[in-house]
Amino acid sequence: MIRHLTASGGWSRRQVPSNAMEPTYSDEAEAYREKIHAFLAEHLPARWKGIGALPAEEALAFTDQWRATLAANRLLAASWPAAYGGGGLSALEQVILVEEFYRAGVPVGGSNDVFGIQMVGNTILAWGTDEQKAHFLPRIISGEDLWCQGYSEPNAGSDLGNLGCRAELDGDEWVLNGQKIWTSAGHLANWIFVLARTDPDAPKHKGISFLLVPMDQPGVEVRPIEMISGDSEFNEVFFTNARCAKENVVGAVNAGWGVAMTLLSYERGEAAATFPITFRAELDRLIELARERGKADDPVIRQRLAWCHSKVEIMRYLGMRTLTKFVAGEHPGPDASIFKLYWSEYHRIVTELSLDILGPDAMVPSGRWPSNAFQTDDAGAPNDSASWVGTFYAARAGTIYAGTSQVQRNILGEMVLGLPKEPAGLKGTWRELQQAKTA
Ligand SMILES: Cc1cc2nc3c(=O)[nH]c(=O)nc-3n(C[C@H](O)[C@H](O)[C@H](O)COP(=O)(O)OP(=O)(O)OC[C@H]3O[C@@H](n4cnc5c(N)ncnc54)[C@H](O)[C@@H]3O)c2cc1C
Repeated sequence: MIRHLTASGGWSRRQVPSNAMEPTYSDEAEAYREKIHAFLAEHLPARWKGIGALPAEEALAFTDQWRATLAANRLLAASWPAAYGGGGLSALEQVILVEEFYRAGVPVGGSNDVFGIQMVGNTILAWGTDEQKAHFLPRIISGEDLWCQGYSEPNAGSDLGNLGCRAELDGDEWVLNGQKIWTSAGHLANWIFVLARTDPDAPKHKGISFLLVPMDQPGVEVRPIEMISGDSEFNEVFFTNARCAKENVVGAVNAGWGVAMTLLSYERGEAAATFPITFRAELDRLIELARERGKADDPVIRQRLAWCHSKVEIMRYLGMRTLTKFVAGEHPGPDASIFKLYWSEYHRIVTELSLDILGPDAMVPSGRWPSNAFQTDDAGAPNDSASWVGTFYAARAGTIYAGTSQVQRNILGEMVLGLPKEPAGLKGTWRELQQAKTA
């Protein structure tokens, strides 16, 4: 069955033509889905409507308690080997787990887990030593270590290879000096993974190392940045003779660029399973809003909603293509850029539509604000003007973080379409390039 918009502005169901794509899962996969349903039924409160239906403070408390439940049942970092506290799930089981959690409107982890589990944890699994895995991975699952991402700098965003935060060896320790910026959740974290310049006399991508740095030390200062919403979810982080152990390098010294790119592929990849679900739910809620506000019969609004519907359906198919590769064991490639570009540009447009439906109420938002500054509001959130205005703000950032739209287009142009590469620019070591810029 698929849904379509009726003349009254509501969704109805009709039969899919027999030649339409109707993906099915194996019996084993469906059996695993039943297990997840049983887990949710056992552990969620009665009459659960999604975490967005809870007031903001209760949602935070619920997330902490839910995270502990997941860890105890090995459903946090569910793909990691059991030796490190994970669940050892297959790729297909992981997909089913996140699908069902997102459908039920429950988080797959806590607020820092995107950095701890998805990014640095997976990267340590891929590149780390046995000692690093044994030390760091269980501490991520227990919640003892909360991570943030120290990549961007004032002069190194899209051109990340230009980064200048320095790390020099002093006996058994690295000493760091420099600045990071836009560090999401940096004020909540006690560890930061840092891309640092360890050899300024190598070409710019070759003198970088990937370091694991404790933040609870005098040489690390975190300064919040206020966003358009008034919240401060990201920060500047300053290092002044900050230190970390010599062995806290992931991969080889001066070979951090490859490690950094592995991590970015995790950052851009997982959305394929979850976004078609969250964006579908968001659009259904927007259609409700149009009805509540008497706009469901407005032909222009209907036309724009229909456009959004087609976009969300295409997103579902794009997601399936990426997931099919993931389940077959392929690493996300340029496909991840197609998906990132697609959802982030769509989200700007759908949230602009939400403000047009709200009309003047969008100027004086009221009710529950989204609990995070990323992507859609939480499942089950009330259809308040504050929810839509907050999501509109978040959508502005979507085309910037995890690689801007222009950068995604460059990747697609060069790697998928085989168009000529960007001009390479000046050649030389990182130090020579900095000198050339200031000459
Ligand atoms: C909400 C949010 C959270 C973030 N969280 C983190 C975090 O936790 N950790 C972290 O390290 N970073 C984080 N970032 C930073 C993010 O990765 C950078 O903002 C992003 O990489 C862009 O870099 P920039 O801001 O320096 O912009 P610039 O790179 O200066 O880009 C400015 C403009 O120029 C365009 N441009 C640049 N280069 C090219 C090119 N070659 N071709 C065409 N156009 C180009 C860009 O597309 C953009 O429009 C976050 C950003 C946001 C918005």
